[in-house]
Amino acid sequence: MQTIRRGDRGDAVRDVHARLLALGFHIEAPEVDDHSYGGSTEGAIRAFQQERGLLVDGLVGPETWEELVEAGFALGDRVLYLRRPSIRGDDVRALQRRLNILGFDPGREDGIFGDQTAQAVRDFQRNVGLRSDGIVGPITLQALDRLLAAPVTGPGRAAVRETEAMRVGSGSLHGRTVAVDPGHGPDDPGAIGPAGTREADAAYRLAEALLVELQLRGSDPRLLRAAGEDPDASERAARANRAGADVLVSMHLNSHEDPAAEGSSAYYFGGVGASSVAGATLAEFVQDELTASTGLRDGRTHPKSFPILRETRMPAVQIEPCFITNPKEEQLLSEDAFIRDVAVATATALERYFAGQAAGAGRQG
Ligand SMILES: [Zn+2]
Repeated sequence: MQTIRRGDRGDAVRDVHARLLALGFHIEAPEVDDHSYGGSTEGAIRAFQQERGLLVDGLVGPETWEELVEAGFALGDRVLYLRRPSIRGDDVRALQRRLNILGFDPGREDGIFGDQTAQAVRDFQRNVGLRSDGIVGPITLQALDRLLAAPVTGPGRAAVRETEAMRVGSGSLHGRTVAVDPGHGPDDPGAIGPAGTREADAAYRLAEALLVELQLRGSDPRLLRAAGEDPDASERAARANRAGADVLVSMHLNSHEDPAAEGSSAYYFGGVGASSVAGATLAEFVQDELTASTGLRDGRTHPKSFPILRETRMPAVQIEPCFITNPKEEQLLSEDAFIRDVAVATATALERYFAGQAAGAGRQG
């Protein structure tokens, strides 16, 4: 699709308006009336992107459009079942939430109707004496509603299960499969620094250095793309899932129109509803180690629903060690010492993460 942006006018903008208004966002009447993408439309899109854990750029590109569509579905609007590509939307998320609360296991509340959600639906149906076909239509929804007389609150079982899973483990990187994702690629260079450094190239160097560091520490790291290759985020996530990775690290660089923007930040899965407890813990450790070793400003950790975080089945973190758009920080990306510092800090954070699991298991006896 073509990106819809400020200054545009017409049917595509009218469609964006209709979706934003249905979601309760405010748009000034003149813009609604002549289907134009002005300041208040851009403001609403930014607020929507913020709320949904997307990149906040005020543009309606493919990801924001998909998210607008997904956000528009309420449970009961359509029949849900397993198909390829998977059905996605807030209705699926609401279904997963309900199944979780009732003690079935649809996996993470990610709004994607995949194998595990289908299995949880069949388990639920069998449990209440319905035909176990994995199809969520009116009868299955009525059965869910009957069992859920109480309002839906509290941490879902997905969060509890993820916390439990963090309690088992050996505490070292030995034998751990770590998926390492160098962001972007030849077709999509990402952000470009003032001196011409391409995010794709810098991310690849950072990923390669991490790969070496992880091998030294006995881990079994897997690169999710070759240097000359540019799979989309869903394909990268699928590769990590197929590899059965224990954790995933995606390397990117931050960017901003203000060249003074600086520092490192880390992102984990979260957006609407539940976020990944394990991912948040891992992101904290990474941020901790990174800022301690590089001395850069602490841009903190943030929940995001980037596809690489959302579509992966293991705890995942996206690291942006510095701003490629900041001249000083761009310079760092050409220094071996900095690249190595980031690799060592990340590997150490992963070790702490697995050690935390082992300590948790020890305390449990
Ligand atoms: Zn990037």
